[in-house]
Amino acid sequence: MKKYNFNAGPSILPREVIENTAKQILDFNGSGLSLAEISHRAKDFQPVVDEAVALIKELLDVPEGYSVLFLGGGASLEFCMVPYNFLIKKAAYLNTGTWAKKAMKEAKLFGEVVEVASSAEANFTYIPKGWTCPTDVDYLHVTTNNTIYGTEMRKELDVPVRLIGDMSSDIFSRPVDVAKYDCIYAGAQKNLSMAGVTVVIVKNDALGKAPREIPTMLNYQTHVDKGSMFNTPPVVPIYCALETLRWIKKMGGVEVMDKLAHERADMLYAEIDRNKLFRGTVAEEDRSLMNICFVMNDEYAELEKPFFEYATAQGMVGIKGHRSVGGFRASCYNAMTVEGVQALVKCMKDFEAQH
Ligand SMILES: *Cc1c(COP(=O)(O)O)cnc(C)c1O
Repeated sequence: MKKYNFNAGPSILPREVIENTAKQILDFNGSGLSLAEISHRAKDFQPVVDEAVALIKELLDVPEGYSVLFLGGGASLEFCMVPYNFLIKKAAYLNTGTWAKKAMKEAKLFGEVVEVASSAEANFTYIPKGWTCPTDVDYLHVTTNNTIYGTEMRKELDVPVRLIGDMSSDIFSRPVDVAKYDCIYAGAQKNLSMAGVTVVIVKNDALGKAPREIPTMLNYQTHVDKGSMFNTPPVVPIYCALETLRWIKKMGGVEVMDKLAHERADMLYAEIDRNKLFRGTVAEEDRSLMNICFVMNDEYAELEKPFFEYATAQGMVGIKGHRSVGGFRASCYNAMTVEGVQALVKCMKDFEAQH
């Protein structure tokens, strides 16, 4: 039976990305050696990094004066590296969920943290609006897509300070106004690659201002200076990211990814709104195009487990909601096909007809 991968992360990648990466793991560029057993300093590997950096710059239209880095430690390490490198005295954080809270917790180790707004009182079912950002902060940190709660900001905020964005789960799904950011970071395993690499886009002249000694590995400047080759970078995940970037370009770039994301999400939200068994969990205007959360309507609560079992039997993988929301979450990253969403919608319709 065909399986449709709705996992939240690690998550679906285009089939050709997996196949091409697998081939290089068996025989890298016809060298007779595996991609997994060559030096990161081998002359054949540098072009992989160079092409991946160039494609990221091209696809996101990154302005002059920014560096693109491939680091380890996941987005979670960036929660600490960001304030280490950028927090001088005071930083602002928009609290939109679990990941934002974790980022804020690390920042408090380095200075004053202002929570500009929070939707915690409503279990993060909306993106706070109508707040003002202090002008005396070093940056405002935002989580552009809240993977767990299914809310998203698909447009850059208009604030009087520099932005720092955790884009782990929506990078390359839409055009981004990179010039507004001092730093963008994304753990790759949601929309770009296998787990093990984090993409960081950093404004060069925003570095070097924090009044503290920074350990070598946690200093962005180290990695800028060495082109992500200060130590051994995650070679295989970087290669896999390159394959995804090539695929995105071939498909027509982030504008096309954006269009497809709307197409998939519109289809699924329309069914959630129509179907008598289900309802969405977040404010309509803040609905994520990447992580689509829904629950059973109260009068059908006892059908949650049967629907999960039914959908799983039809080939739907990974649709169980995060424990802090319950119900269901269908993650529809770039590689999810319209056909996959149609299959899920069909499950929902068929299940409704049976009840
Ligand atoms: C998954 C996720 C993280 C954590 O990523 P790791 O790479 O596991 O550290 C952080 N932020 C967001 C928005 C995420 O979706």
